[in-house]
Amino acid sequence: MHLEEVSWTPADRWCDATNRDRPQLTTFESFDLIDEAVVAGAERLHIYVSDPQRRGDLGKLIAYARKAGITTIIEGESAECFDEQTLAAFARAGAHAVIVPLHHVDELQRVENVVQTIRRFGMEAEITSTFTLLNIDDLAAMALLVETMQATLWIVRFGSFEGPTAENHLTPELIEEAFSLLYRSMRDTAIKISTPDAPHFKRYVMQRLSWNPLRTRDDRCNVAMPTAKESQSEHAHLHVDCDGAIRPDRDFSMSTGNIRDLPLDVIFREAPLLVQLRDPRALHGRCGVCEFKRICGGYRPRAFAHTHDPLDEDPACTYKPATKPLGVAHV
Ligand code: SF4
Repeated sequence: MHLEEVSWTPADRWCDATNRDRPQLTTFESFDLIDEAVVAGAERLHIYVSDPQRRGDLGKLIAYARKAGITTIIEGESAECFDEQTLAAFARAGAHAVIVPLHHVDELQRVENVVQTIRRFGMEAEITSTFTLLNIDDLAAMALLVETMQATLWIVRFGSFEGPTAENHLTPELIEEAFSLLYRSMRDTAIKISTPDAPHFKRYVMQRLSWNPLRTRDDRCNVAMPTAKESQSEHAHLHVDCDGAIRPDRDFSMSTGNIRDLPLDVIFREAPLLVQLRDPRALHGRCGVCEFKRICGGYRPRAFAHTHDPLDEDPACTYKPATKPLGVAHV
């Protein structure tokens, strides 16, 4: 398996999970990071920005990645990160796509303007939404808005069940209800949906397709049976903090090394935590005995946040493995 995507918070504000003993990577160290990502086989660099002005060299880094052959995607903390000047600079540097947050219907006007500007500059526009008890009632309306805006991808998140807003997180049952609406949106519209912190949506899709097969080519255009290969490529991902610390995912509060101490591809191939996380046979609890573990495997940062065991079952999933006939091929 080779590394497919490196995500990176190049500036300080989003790097809370690491200690601040080391300064953030300099421009030249950041160039080294990009070079190491290329050596490890990475195809995408996903950059999170809280305030694009915090890294005056952001344009240089995007341009360097482009020259190295890596596709760059920029995700902002809010739509306010992306004024016209900033988006023009991203486009000139060669950014491929920009991800804009949309968490409430009343943000529509601002987000729609940003999406149009992104398109005008020739980049792809993606939308990300995090649903909690505070905005879950907007889910259907937001699905319609995302469709209207013709975003390339809708990234739907539910949070990791920890942190100061934990009491507002959806119960596993409410997440399952949200899956039902997401599935219908995918089936009935042209929206493409990704659920990075809810891989059990793949289990839901597989069950739905198994119980109610889609018969026509049109039916199938946007809903495909999940594959284990897709899921493996999700594990071919690393997150790099602003100080070079590496975590398996941005939501993981545990570091597995630092690119200032070891090359990126060595950490990716050899860090014991990463090796374990790539092996579905190592999972515990319900995930460990689940028929869907090769296409799903649960969201590991949530399991770790819940029990401090990164291999434990994902508490956001309602599924009880092998308690009823599935009627689907085991993967
Ligand atoms: S039990 Fe675990 S592996 Fe199975 S569907 Fe739920 S989260 Fe996924």
